Amino acid sequence: MPLTKSKGNMYPWVSHTHTHLGGECPHKCTYCYVQAMQRRFGGHRYHGELRLIEDEFSVQYGIHRTIFVEHCNDLWADGVPDNWISRVLSHCIDWPDNEYVFQTKNPNRYYGWLDKMPVNRLLGCTIETTDAGIAADVSQSPSPEERYQAMTELTLTERVFVTVEPILKGDMMTLARWIGDIRPEFANVGADSKGTGLDEPSADEVQTLLGGLQGLGVEIRQKRNLDRLRKITRKVTRQDTAHMVHSEGDTKNTDAG
Ligand code: SF4
Repeated sequence: MPLTKSKGNMYPWVSHTHTHLGGECPHKCTYCYVQAMQRRFGGHRYHGELRLIEDEFSVQYGIHRTIFVEHCNDLWADGVPDNWISRVLSHCIDWPDNEYVFQTKNPNRYYGWLDKMPVNRLLGCTIETTDAGIAADVSQSPSPEERYQAMTELTLTERVFVTVEPILKGDMMTLARWIGDIRPEFANVGADSKGTGLDEPSADEVQTLLGGLQGLGVEIRQKRNLDRLRKITRKVTRQDTAHMVHSEGDTKNTDAG
């Protein structure tokens, strides 16, 4: 699969995406759009054992691009061997005139690799809820609090962002505080767009998060798929928040990591 031009359906600020990892992501999130697409359209690229797709290492990354690497898996999941991470990072370093975006639900693993990453990088973490039980019901990744703790340290030396997508029920004030502590360049906020039956917050709870982030001075990049949740009480929330957030992306979850 060549370097793919991002059409703005995931992160509009990403110009390209690319993957070297095949097989199923070890985190096995129930809402994973990659697996949903796999089930719907067939194919085996993201099915079965985790593996490297050797041909992908010959892809030419070019220059002046913002490339989201491994957007269909989690390169930093514990099940990914070290030498695979090393090879993916080396591929990025071979093309130094780009910005590289990584995203994970296991940010603790970033730490061992910081000196081996491309210099121009942005490190993301998904935190969809504060509720460990709800998170455990939908994913085999580290708990939300572990992710939060790891990111608060990382932000001391790194450019970071947080993605709350697909947003799940939880303590929204705490989630806003966690993100404020992380001090990300921005927070992406979006909802499940695949109808996977998640335990989702009410419109008021979504508004609590958005208002909390705004109060803490966090830039909000709101996905359009969040409208489905916010519309429920649009009369209450529309005027309150229309001025403070900007919407982007379409209906695809930003699932990877
Ligand atoms: S949503 Fe992300 S972390 Fe979860 S299974 Fe899919 S790629 Fe892995």
